[in-house]
Amino acid sequence: MIAQVVRESHSRDYWTAEAGSHAAGGSGPGEALRRLCRALNIPNADVLPLPGATIDRQTFRLGPTTRCPDCGGSGRYVGLRAAEACETCGGCGRVAA
Ligand SMILES: [Zn+2]
Repeated sequence: MIAQVVRESHSRDYWTAEAGSHAAGGSGPGEALRRLCRALNIPNADVLPLPGATIDRQTFRLGPTTRCPDCGGSGRYVGLRAAEACETCGGCGRVAA
């Protein structure tokens, strides 16, 4: 299931999260998404951010996840000279199960 989290155009600080026929609002994208997940009974660990987020729109995949096999769940890749976000999971430490 895909959830869209969108900033309402009439209000700078009100966001709506929608997935299927469910919707929830909040004073920020995190609050809207948490309320939607609570209504759908989806654990926080089963929410994956998808690429392509903008300043007023974010997309998430809601569904079973597992610890990222490449970074062990840390979300970081530590190289010889630098540490950076894990490429496989985008830094969140989890991937689709
Ligand atoms: Zn990773």
